[in-house]
Amino acid sequence: MSLRDVSDHVTQVQLEHPQGKYPVSVNVYLLSVDEGHQIMIDSGFRSTSDDLINLLKAEGVREITDLIITHAHPDHTGGMESVQRVFGARAHVHERELLGLRSIGSFLDAGAEGIISPVLSNHIRRTEFDEIKAMILGYVRIMPETIYLISGHRRDLGCLTLLHTPGHTPGHTAVFDKRDKVLISGDLILADDTSNVAFYPIQGYDPLLSYLESMRVVEGLGSRCVYTSHGDPITNLSERIDQQFLHHQRRLLEAIGSLQPRGTLIDVVRNISWSKGRFDELSAIDKWLAISEAISHVIFLENRGLIVRSSGSPLVYERRADENRVREVMRAIRRGSSVT
Ligand SMILES: [Zn+2]
Repeated sequence: MSLRDVSDHVTQVQLEHPQGKYPVSVNVYLLSVDEGHQIMIDSGFRSTSDDLINLLKAEGVREITDLIITHAHPDHTGGMESVQRVFGARAHVHERELLGLRSIGSFLDAGAEGIISPVLSNHIRRTEFDEIKAMILGYVRIMPETIYLISGHRRDLGCLTLLHTPGHTPGHTAVFDKRDKVLISGDLILADDTSNVAFYPIQGYDPLLSYLESMRVVEGLGSRCVYTSHGDPITNLSERIDQQFLHHQRRLLEAIGSLQPRGTLIDVVRNISWSKGRFDELSAIDKWLAISEAISHVIFLENRGLIVRSSGSPLVYERRADENRVREVMRAIRRGSSVT
């Protein structure tokens, strides 16, 4: 665990997972705002909450007025209850995050019916599905009753701007400190890893398009430095965003390349090169992350008319565009032109 001031008003606390589980470390932030008030962004793992509280107390922190949760994953919400109880913080999360948690919770409770079930039943063992379900439902239930909801795309809070930056999750929120021109980016964009662009069964939600647009939103802020939840800060934001666009373009090309001219979701999942290896050899949780991200890519292609789906179970997708068209669509989004 370590603590350092990263700008005049922002302190970073790095917390290490005691069992060395992935992610092995997470950064949370303490900001001094108007009239000496302190607010916190994210709260680390449940297993590091006692250490976090003790460290903050040793630093002389007595009160934290607000705790902003960038998104409801267990490495960000684990210390939430303790920070609320010990420092009296009001916790805030974007309302779309609660909607996302509820939707994925009932989806898994119902056995992941619909587009996933044929994939799960043939390629994920029952025990693996139970493991995935237990993990996700575990953090779905972590949200307390007393939570303040952030709504809308952008909210000014004194010297801070809260930005709704969906894509990693539906209610992901980033925080911009206007004084120091510092962005706290959560898991939206990382210096040396790629963020999972997860599927949530919310009507009309297009995770990958949201993700790409969210990166453009934060690019427009003119941040001097971007502090992330995992790993090092980013000083070359536009270059890093270019790399993320290329990364997802590669995955879209692999996805569309698996349809010759037709295929199912499992063909798509298997044709994408996952950073941790071949799909069939991944752990249960990584299989879930891969399927979830592949669905996000399929939704993106479908919504742009680059593929079409036919009915049936499992669903069959048919390719309707060539690789150049995929590149064109991505270039247009990078430039900020509207694509439908
Ligand atoms: Zn995280």
